Amino acid sequence: MLQGGVAAFGIMGAMADEIRLIRDDLTDPRPVPGALDITFGWLDGIPVLVSRCGIGKVNAALAASAMAAAGAASIVFTGVAGAVAPGLGIGDVVVGDRFIQHDADGTAFGDPIGQVPGEPACWRPDPGLTDRVLTAARRVDPGGRRVVAGTIASGDQFIADPARVTWLRAQFDASAVEMEGAALAQAASRLGVPFAVARILSDSADGAAASDFPAFLARAAERDRELAHELVSGLRETRDRRLTP
Ligand code: SAH
Repeated sequence: MLQGGVAAFGIMGAMADEIRLIRDDLTDPRPVPGALDITFGWLDGIPVLVSRCGIGKVNAALAASAMAAAGAASIVFTGVAGAVAPGLGIGDVVVGDRFIQHDADGTAFGDPIGQVPGEPACWRPDPGLTDRVLTAARRVDPGGRRVVAGTIASGDQFIADPARVTWLRAQFDASAVEMEGAALAQAASRLGVPFAVARILSDSADGAAASDFPAFLARAAERDRELAHELVSGLRETRDRRLTP
């Protein structure tokens, strides 16, 4: 189950652009056998599992499960999202501190909108890992774009409509909207794997979203790479402190 006998740090992205440059930087990359796109390798001396999970909630949950089985001790999702909270815009970063599935609807049974029947009202990430992701994201962009903690709303819908943005704010006080985070949250919580999600805002989920989104992807890829290096550098410092007598 563990790769080379070591637990690995998991990094997940939905699309090739979100993890391409991270994967390029791996030493001794090896595909993890199985149907999913997961690579084991070493990033700056730290064992990592990198997954391109594909778009949407089911893909994210599948990949979380396969990453856990392959030995991921924790999972950080890096990718892009649409801005929802007022004041946030393209290039800002939202690190999830609460996750809901905006397309879940059990209101016929009296469940609140956004709650999968029988599941919690929301999911929370690992607080320590989330703090580390926030710190790393701020280091990657010192004095630059905003990096905030907030609610991430996920669903199998690309949001490109200001009325939906207003609804996401009013219903969930959401900061960002995307298509995977809350599914990773549900799966990782069930599996007992600590997780965190960092999203660079690629669009404002409005009428311009479909053209803003692809235009921003190359920049996002570079920032995802820097974030991954910053995160493993923190892990290396912790490991080296432990090894120092
Ligand atoms: N045709 C595109 C579809 C991308 S779907 C393609 O195949 O490349 C959008 C992806 O970016 C999802 O992974 C989602 O998590 C994220 N995303 C970015 N902006 C979004 C928005 N406004 N609404 C929903 N998801 C968004």
